Amino acid sequence: MTYSENISTLQPSATMAVSSLAKRLAAEGRDIINLSAGEPDFDTPDWIAEAGIRAIREGRTRYTPASGLPEVRAAAAQDALTRAHAGWELDAGNVVVSAGAKQSLFNACFALFGPGDDVLVAAPYWTSYPEIVGLARARPVVVSGAEAEDFRLTPAELDAARTPATRGLILCSPSNPTGTVYSLEELAAVAGWARRHDVWLISDEIYRRICFLPDRPIAPGILDLAPSEVGPFVLVDGVSKTFAMTGWRIGYAISPADLAAKAGALQSQITSNPSTPAQLAALAALTEREQAEATVHNMVAAFHRRRDLVVRLLEEKLPGYSFLRPEGAFYLFLRVDSDYGADISGSSEWCSRVLEEKGVALVPGSAFGDDRYARLSYAASDREIEEAIDRLAS
Ligand code: PMP
Ligand code: GLU
Repeated sequence: MTYSENISTLQPSATMAVSSLAKRLAAEGRDIINLSAGEPDFDTPDWIAEAGIRAIREGRTRYTPASGLPEVRAAAAQDALTRAHAGWELDAGNVVVSAGAKQSLFNACFALFGPGDDVLVAAPYWTSYPEIVGLARARPVVVSGAEAEDFRLTPAELDAARTPATRGLILCSPSNPTGTVYSLEELAAVAGWARRHDVWLISDEIYRRICFLPDRPIAPGILDLAPSEVGPFVLVDGVSKTFAMTGWRIGYAISPADLAAKAGALQSQITSNPSTPAQLAALAALTEREQAEATVHNMVAAFHRRRDLVVRLLEEKLPGYSFLRPEGAFYLFLRVDSDYGADISGSSEWCSRVLEEKGVALVPGSAFGDDRYARLSYAASDREIEEAIDRLAS
């Protein structure tokens, strides 16, 4: 069968594939510890779930405007403004609510880029970025900072990667898969570079609330910069990670209003609005501030404690392996290429062997653009983390 050029290079999501495989093996009775999942292991907080249930009971089950309910868009803008540098003016017109941040990224790339365009993708990258750029038939150009700098990009590396066709840059801080967080100065340098070259900066800040820096409980984001420091931008955010709502499928993009209108039109022809009750659950998460703060505080404290645990156990039990010390999100990028040789050629084989022989599911670094590594998610219980590292060490 022949398929369209649209999907000629498309690969299924490796993170979703490994995570589904791990869940399937566990359901079949295999003793699997799943450290591949890119989602909080907590249930959606009751008070948010109740808002969704109430919405269904009250008959809020019809279409909404394609870009989302005005009150949800306004709440997302308001939430962004509470932490923004003086001078930002944002309202509902800058926001499009989508079926997850993944759709927000797709909308942005599909609306902005096309054949002949290059889009820089900061590596190690979340696995879907190059695929989404490819679906827009633009060319993903992988660009990476120095490993010793936890791969943070500087204008020098961006300059080296830029071509006359460069139209966009996708950046993720806190990073999936490394947990690296850009400081405000580092972010300002990258944003300044994009502004000077008129390159769209797509800043994926979906993990911004999961940050362990002592002086920055919320990771620096582009709205912390003065509006004059930021050129054309799309800020990608959502409730999936912060509020343990991955299955509700609500994310959003904040951008100049013109682009928001185009993205809304795109969405109106593809999926229409994201699920109405899920939007109303997200509205509770975004507006019931006191409860939201308490909930996020507790979940982040748990991730922080587990980050400390996983770092301590790796140093103690797997001293031969290096890793990047995560400062945010809930992933750790473990360097495993010291095991490569005649029978293991790369991260895919390494992860398959670890799954088969030790029953521990990790995601190969090749899915994130660096075959020397494997990604470990510590969105798991202390017992699972301890047992997994014992198994890896054995
Ligand atoms: N960006 C990053 C960096 C992610 O890890 C994820 C996780 N799936 C997403 C976007 C998409 O989030 P959502 O589940 O809201 O589509
Ligand atoms: N973002 C998560 C991950 O990296 C969830 C899976 C996905 O959407 O790719 O594992």
